[in-house]
Amino acid sequence: MGKGPKLVGCTSCRRCLAVCPQHIPIPTYLRLLNDHLRAPESGEPAVRYAELAAEGPAASDCVGCRACCTTCMEYIMIPEMLAEVAGALEGK
Ligand code: SF4
Ligand code: SF4
Repeated sequence: MGKGPKLVGCTSCRRCLAVCPQHIPIPTYLRLLNDHLRAPESGEPAVRYAELAAEGPAASDCVGCRACCTTCMEYIMIPEMLAEVAGALEGK
């Protein structure tokens, strides 16, 4: 088995959702980023992302307050990962 892409270790515990002032669906967006990293040729994560971002906050609505980071037991750099989501999935 070859070396796979480096995925975000989000467990979807949802703790960060309670504190985000922008109400960004963080675990959902991180899952879509992982789906994209696993299969970059598939456009499906970008399509799903576009649907969600049309209905609610986009990854790029993150204001970098880092309130989420203090709740994440996996020590995920959430604002930086959301910037990756925006780069990978927005405008596609
Ligand atoms: S850094 Fe971004 S994702 Fe985290 S709580 Fe603040 S606005 Fe929400
Ligand atoms: S707190 Fe961390 S592990 Fe839990 S859902 Fe948010 S990003 Fe994922």
